[in-house]
Amino acid sequence: MSDTIRERYVALREQVDAAARAVGRRPGEITMLGVSKKQPADAVREAVAAGVNDIGENYVQEARKKFALLDGVGPFVKHFIGHVQTNKAKQIVQTFDVVQGVDRIDAGIALSKAAASLGKTLDVLVQVNISPQERFGCAVDEAPALADALRALPALSVRGVMAIGPITEDREEIGRAFTLAAKTFERIGGNTLSIGMSGDWREAIAAGSTMIRIGTALFGSRPVPATPA
Ligand SMILES: *Cc1c(COP(=O)(O)O)cnc(C)c1O
Repeated sequence: MSDTIRERYVALREQVDAAARAVGRRPGEITMLGVSKKQPADAVREAVAAGVNDIGENYVQEARKKFALLDGVGPFVKHFIGHVQTNKAKQIVQTFDVVQGVDRIDAGIALSKAAASLGKTLDVLVQVNISPQERFGCAVDEAPALADALRALPALSVRGVMAIGPITEDREEIGRAFTLAAKTFERIGGNTLSIGMSGDWREAIAAGSTMIRIGTALFGSRPVPATPA
């Protein structure tokens, strides 16, 4: 891919808008989160300049270093889309505006405590497991109770659901999994259903996604070696 990030964003946004209209949805309902893990700070700078308002990172240390290089860029909303380790809760809350991967009460308690100590309310999504290949996420049946328990914590605001689709070529299986996530979102409530990545955003939009998380289709393949959390 020799296109610039801006060119890819504009082209992708057009495809997303068309896909939304094709299933009777308004393009404005769908936010594109740029997933910049393993990408350099300049890639984020370029994406934000092109109009990407939401950026997702998986690793706390990598994100902190990168965001520090982006003073004066933005504003953009910072989403943590990695696995929440309770011992990193404070750093996560200091670094991010939204935490998408809350899949157990312990993570919520740690995040709420950290948010309260920093005098802020943290937006979170309940991560639901809809894929046999995915390690994280709470069971679909347990998600409403987890959402209730998280809502009882003082410094969290539960905004909806996040899920990672199954890794398969079977488009119908992907669609069924996303429909399950959408039903769970209906039960939990909120304004954000974060489903769909570079390879499956079409199925996600058809199922009701309000936020697609796009890495490689926007930034290209990931050049920088993995930074462990
Ligand atoms: C890496 C990642 C993405 C983006 O994946 P692409 O296939 O590159 O679009 C989205 N969501 C999560 C949770 C990720 O870890």
